[in-house]
Amino acid sequence: MSTTNRLLVLAVLWAAGQASSFAQDANVKIRGGCEIIAVRSGPSHIDYSFCDKLPPIEYKTYGWLVPVLSLAFDNAERVSCGSLRCAVLDRTVDLVVTANAFGNAGVSWNTPRVADSDRMVFFFTTGIADLIQASTTGYMFDTQDRINGLHAWLREIDRRANSDCEFRVPAPFRPLNADETKIVFQTALVMYQFILGHEFAHVALGSDCGVASGGALAQETACDRFAFDRHWKAQAIAPQLVIIPTVAMAHYDSLLDERWGTYFFAESGKTLKEALPAADWITRGKNILRWWRGECQASTGANHPACQPLMQGLYSEVANYLDLDVPRACHDTESSRSKEWQPAGSMEGLFCSRVTAIMGDHGTAYSKFRGKEKRAGSSTRYELQPAPPGTDFCNITVRDGKASTFCAFPDTSSRVDTIQQFLTLTRQVSTCLPGYEQTKSGDGLDAETVFRGSMGSLSLSMSETGQDSYTSFRIDPPK
Ligand SMILES: [Zn+2]
Repeated sequence: MSTTNRLLVLAVLWAAGQASSFAQDANVKIRGGCEIIAVRSGPSHIDYSFCDKLPPIEYKTYGWLVPVLSLAFDNAERVSCGSLRCAVLDRTVDLVVTANAFGNAGVSWNTPRVADSDRMVFFFTTGIADLIQASTTGYMFDTQDRINGLHAWLREIDRRANSDCEFRVPAPFRPLNADETKIVFQTALVMYQFILGHEFAHVALGSDCGVASGGALAQETACDRFAFDRHWKAQAIAPQLVIIPTVAMAHYDSLLDERWGTYFFAESGKTLKEALPAADWITRGKNILRWWRGECQASTGANHPACQPLMQGLYSEVANYLDLDVPRACHDTESSRSKEWQPAGSMEGLFCSRVTAIMGDHGTAYSKFRGKEKRAGSSTRYELQPAPPGTDFCNITVRDGKASTFCAFPDTSSRVDTIQQFLTLTRQVSTCLPGYEQTKSGDGLDAETVFRGSMGSLSLSMSETGQDSYTSFRIDPPK
């Protein structure tokens, strides 16, 4: 499905009566690692001394979440029981954003039974907000783009399997313009609201979501179902925009399974999935898809905005994302712990820094980047480690002490897509290698661009293999 269709689908949904202004004034304060949004004022006092012990959060970095979460909170309460305060009553309620790379949200109250409580705190981590923004951006604008899009971004997460852990994932490739930014905020709001709807389900049904036995996954599923049903009735859900961030969570948490285990459950020796069976995001995403299809197949579904023919075209698209294998865990090491908080930057930045690092290492025939040896003979071939984001595979070939690097991007079945990727890469490489002489030749799939400069040359070109075509580049040391 093209981006245009995807936006059209969304317009159908918005026209169906979603509140859409960020007008609410939120009362916000920053304390240590907490951004505290007073969403419902009341007489009770909430103790935030724990925030002083958390890594500090900056308003300038996460202040944008305040209007988004405030609106999502109001919408979610209205959807869950009909009006503002219908769930929280006269309690004091804050929504707290904490600086934590773990993607999580929750709600707590101050007494064993929710009915006896006089205050509530909903919380959201910056980690879940980052994953929602990044996956929604990739999905809305770049999903068809095999170099820069959602697939490439998920693969970039998966690629860290069996390497040193890092919490931070890069942002999807390109900067967005103002209109695109607005669209990302409106679409991401669907997921923020669904998550808060899940937390309102806990308020309505209790910590166990009304399921006494069957385990944590069954309990959390009951709260997902409550949130889904209420949002479905209110016509306030586009299920694909809930499923896509859930897929991102699945890849991220699978990668960090061991690291989260030692981070949160050090004494138990368990991994995240062993300690929290409800962190089975693929199963939870598949539930949403099943409920969505079920509602649309029911006789009552015919006029629902999420059952329009265009929306039904999205079933198989999101099912494909849910079917992608999640990665094996990364390794939790001394060195990974020392750098896990460093920002990952963007995929574009990562691409650039890897390309320039490879080119800068030609003096040692790229020995720093040689991974597994692939084949012997007159030449020796190695995998390039780590490969630049978006690439399908990269090889270093060493012959007579000289080395070159070849990287190929995934095949596409459309020449137009391949040429588009080639043009995108040409722009990206030219910003990575400023001052390099650029020579262009050929056109269509025969086009080639060569960049020459102090660190050698990089040639970008395209090839055909039967019905498919792909983009590739080759790096050679200076002559
Ligand atoms: Zn829950």
